[in-house]
Amino acid sequence: MTAKIIDGKAIAARIREEIKRKVDERVAKGLPRPGLATVLVGDNPASQTYVRMKQKACAEVGIESFGYHLPKDASQEEVEALVEQLNADPRVHGILVQLPLPKHLDEERVLSKISIEKDVDGFHPINIGRLAQKGREPLFVPCTPAGVMVLLKEAGVDLEGANAVVLGRSNIVGMPMALLLVRANSTVTICHSRTKDIPAHTRQADVVIAAVGRPRMVKADWIKPGAVVIDVGVNRVDDPTAKKGYRLVGDVDFDEVKEVAGAITPVPGGVGPMTIAMLLQNTLKAAELADKKRASQA
Ligand code: NAP
Repeated sequence: MTAKIIDGKAIAARIREEIKRKVDERVAKGLPRPGLATVLVGDNPASQTYVRMKQKACAEVGIESFGYHLPKDASQEEVEALVEQLNADPRVHGILVQLPLPKHLDEERVLSKISIEKDVDGFHPINIGRLAQKGREPLFVPCTPAGVMVLLKEAGVDLEGANAVVLGRSNIVGMPMALLLVRANSTVTICHSRTKDIPAHTRQADVVIAAVGRPRMVKADWIKPGAVVIDVGVNRVDDPTAKKGYRLVGDVDFDEVKEVAGAITPVPGGVGPMTIAMLLQNTLKAAELADKKRASQA
């Protein structure tokens, strides 16, 4: 059996087209162009690359981006003051603080300062709290898990009553992923670094989401035949034949797992493009929320 490949790149491209159409429509109607502010603190090269990619993606769909770059020794007060300034800026509908922040900064305090109406990353404690509560709706859902949910829907996966195993429990991927699956009525198991015998859990799963950051950890004999496997992991492995000397692989051993799974996402070209598409979608939603607020105050 060879798995169906879930093409995140193609699905994300379709979503970006749709966002562009909606942005063009609203600008033609005289509504403000959606704006995303990115806050980068320090010189982490990976963070710089992520911010650049997000700004480029914004430009492609007509979302304006406002880049802010603070030095690596910026104080807690300086970062929080910038967030407050952006909260008050009507051109800015979404605020993205690129994580991780330098160690001396209190990340949770910074994220808590973002207005929940501009929290397009969905990391504000109120948005996460609402995600965890029955009958409550977060304004924004974290982009990577939100993207995974779209991939599962597009692949026609029935989550109702399904056994889902999430590998990883981080604030940005594993935990919100598990919460979204619970909301979709799956029975969810979360595995992490202290879990005993992870394969015993994954072998029972109809859906496996891998978000651990360990190259090719998930093997074919961990997977129930026909299960759906979503690989969030992005890991650099040495490859002297590659131009850069490395290449990117997921947390799933794609070549062997694809022979067992019913459907699988590749790395790259699976979850990654969806994360950015969801950020753009959240920014458009933030602009729409601001329209409603203005209208109600008029
Ligand atoms: P993280 O904060 O490092 O969390 C990793 C999680 O995996 C933790 O919960 C950890 O357990 C668990 N873990 C680590 N080693 C394990 C092992 N050997 N067995 C079982 N569990 C283990 O990472 P993250 O930010 O969630 O990211 C996870 C992966 O997704 C990374 O490869 C990252 O690059 C990728 N990612 C991709 C996207 C995208 O858009 N495609 C977005 C975000 C992240 P403990 O909690 O016990 O420490």
